[in-house]
Amino acid sequence: MRGRRMKRNRAGLFVVLVLIATLGGILMAKEWGGHLFSGSSIPEAAAAEGATPSPSPSPTPSQKPSPTPTVPNKPETGKPSDPTPGTKPPATKPTPNKDEKLVALTFDDGPDGKYTPQVLELLKKYKIKATFFLVGPQVEKYPDTVKQIVDEGHSIGNHTWSHKDMTKLTKKAQGEEIDKTQNAIFKAAGIKPHLMRAPFGALSDTLLETLADREMKHVYWTVDTKDWAGTSVAEMRKNVLAHTRSGGILLMHTFGGRKNALDHTVKLLPLIIGDLSKKGYKFVTVDELIDAGQAHASVVK
Ligand SMILES: [Zn+2]
Repeated sequence: MRGRRMKRNRAGLFVVLVLIATLGGILMAKEWGGHLFSGSSIPEAAAAEGATPSPSPSPTPSQKPSPTPTVPNKPETGKPSDPTPGTKPPATKPTPNKDEKLVALTFDDGPDGKYTPQVLELLKKYKIKATFFLVGPQVEKYPDTVKQIVDEGHSIGNHTWSHKDMTKLTKKAQGEEIDKTQNAIFKAAGIKPHLMRAPFGALSDTLLETLADREMKHVYWTVDTKDWAGTSVAEMRKNVLAHTRSGGILLMHTFGGRKNALDHTVKLLPLIIGDLSKKGYKFVTVDELIDAGQAHASVVK
């Protein structure tokens, strides 16, 4: 009695095992022959059942396993950015002539991830070099963009760390604002600017001394587009055309300002480049303007 049941049980177990093995084999063959690791069975099943209508009809989930295994990060050796001072873009640009009508485009408060890349793209398209006055925290946030600015032949100026009214700070605090930003720019792009623009153009004798201690110059502007305030493209274009003179420095922004205000800056740029080119202006960096002797003493101190 006991033995017979054991026998029957054993036979039953054998049949079950064979069934499992056969089924398993079929399933395995199907998987390997098909999309192994596709991981799409759940969404497909759900969609087929109509139980959970998926908002995204895409059958392939985004988290597909990567074909290449993830290699652990290489240990950092030495400094994080390892700037190589001395590697400057090739000096192919001709020295601007004193008699040429020169104008410098300047962009404050960047870099950022939205407008600075668009402005750089336009400058590249029109083969124009400009000057960017950068603030420290943005430099820390977008070091690659700072490097790109330098690599593409533009000039960089210091626009302080915290964008405060420098005239209200002690000389020591002014120095800290400037030095901290200089160091951030150096870390990002391997250069230390010798130009500075005070936030709001708020300049004092003390700040001029602070700058002189560091062999730096302060740069004002001759035409304020007021782009940060959301001024219309037409109004800015008219203003620039009416007030630009040779040796002019135009003030624009690539960060800050009112919501979407700098969309106007991006639209304005090709228009004023066209307008001023037609009037015979050549676009240069503030450094080139100074080198050509065209920077006004009241504007660059
Ligand atoms: Zn500013």
